[in-house]
Amino acid sequence: MEICKRVVKILEKGYVCNNCLGRHFAQLLTGMSNEERGRILRKFVAMEIDAGKDIDIDKSNFAGVEFRKRDIETNEESECVVCEGLFDELGDWCGKIMRNLQGYEFKNFLIGTRLPDKLVKREEELWEDVGIEYCEEMKAEFNRELGKRLEEKTKKVVEFELPEMQVLVDVEKDEVELNVNSVCVYGEYQKTERGIPQTEWPSGKYEISLEEIIAPAFLREADSADEKFHGAGREDIDALCKGWRPFILELLGPKKRKLDLDKIKEEVNKNREVNIRNLQTVGRDKIGELKAWQPDKSYRALVEMEKDVDEEDLEKLKKLETTLTQRTPQRVEHRRADRYRKRRVKDIHWEKRKDRKIEIVVKAEAGTYIKEMISGDGGRTVPSVASIFGMDAECIELDVIEIHGKDDLAFITE
Ligand SMILES: [Zn+2]
Repeated sequence: MEICKRVVKILEKGYVCNNCLGRHFAQLLTGMSNEERGRILRKFVAMEIDAGKDIDIDKSNFAGVEFRKRDIETNEESECVVCEGLFDELGDWCGKIMRNLQGYEFKNFLIGTRLPDKLVKREEELWEDVGIEYCEEMKAEFNRELGKRLEEKTKKVVEFELPEMQVLVDVEKDEVELNVNSVCVYGEYQKTERGIPQTEWPSGKYEISLEEIIAPAFLREADSADEKFHGAGREDIDALCKGWRPFILELLGPKKRKLDLDKIKEEVNKNREVNIRNLQTVGRDKIGELKAWQPDKSYRALVEMEKDVDEEDLEKLKKLETTLTQRTPQRVEHRRADRYRKRRVKDIHWEKRKDRKIEIVVKAEAGTYIKEMISGDGGRTVPSVASIFGMDAECIELDVIEIHGKDDLAFITE
C-alpha cells in the first residue's frame, strides 16, 4: 500500500493527532519526531485534496489548513480517536512526575507507561487495517517523548540499564508510581563483643543485632526508611569476628545517593561492639556476588578437654588436617536441612593452656562447623577433637580471626 493511501485510511477513522499519524511511519526517515512526520503527511494529503483528488476525510483533520484551489470548510480539531488526547497531556504528566520526584537526589531515570487496554486495542485494530511495516508502539513513543521532556526539566538523563529512578505512569489510574533503586554500600566489619547476632533475631531474644548497630547512621545519611543487611556469611552469636567480614548494606528508597561514607564510618565506629572500614558504593548486582562467595576462614578456638592431654599427645591434632564429614549440627537442625557435608580443614595449630584447655588456630573451608569439629556433635562430625582423643572436648570460645581471599571480590577497591 502506498503511503498516501495509508495516511488516508488512518485519517478516515476520524480526527487523528500528528503523533498517532506519524507513529505509523516511525520507521521511515530519522532525525525527526512522529509529531513532525504526522504534520508533513497531513499537509501532503491536504495538498492532494487541494489539487482535486477526491478524498473524503473528516475535515477536523485539516483544522487550520487553508485550501487555495478548492473551497473546503474545515472543522475544529477534536479528540484523537486513537490516543484520546494522550499526547496533549505530556506536559501534565511531566509536571506530575516532577512533583513525585521532589526531594530525591538522582542522576538518571527511566519512564515506563501502563496504557489503558482500550487504547492498546484501538492501536492494534489500526495496525490490522493499515499494516505494521513502519509503525511503532504508542507506549514506546509516549515513554520517549515524556523522557525527553523530563530530561529537559530536570537536567537528568534517561538510563536504560540501571536507572536510579524508575517512573511508572499509569494512565488509567491517573497515577505516577516511583521506584527508587537502592543504594548499596560495601563495607567490612569486626564484631568485638559476644552475644550479638548479625541480623535481628525474630523472637527478640537478643537485645540488639550488628545490623541494628550499623544501619542507623547509613539510614540517616541516605534519608532512607529501610535497609537490608547482606553479610558474607555470619559468625555464631557468641563468637567474635576479629577478621574483617565483608557486607553490603542495601539502602531502600533513599532520598540521598551521594553519601558521606567517612562520616558514616566515624559514627558507626563510636559503638563499642563493632568497627567498620573500607566503605564504598557498589552496584546492586554485587549482592549476589557477595552471597555466592565462599572464602576460607581462620578461627581461634579455646577448647576445654575432659581430661588433661600431654603436650606430645597434642600432635594428634594434626589428624584434623583432613576432610571432615559433618552432618547438620543438632544446634541448627531446626533451620537447616539435615544432610552430610564434606569440609576441608586446611591448617591447624595449637597451644596448651592451663586447666585442661587448648587454644587452637584453624583454617578451614567455607561452611565448616568449628564447634562440631571440636565436640564431634555426638558422632555427627568425623573426625573431631573429641574422637581423636576419645574424650569430651568443648569449644568454650570462638573467634573468626581472618576471612581469606578478598581478592576474589574484584569490585572492591582498597
Ligand atoms: Zn493521538
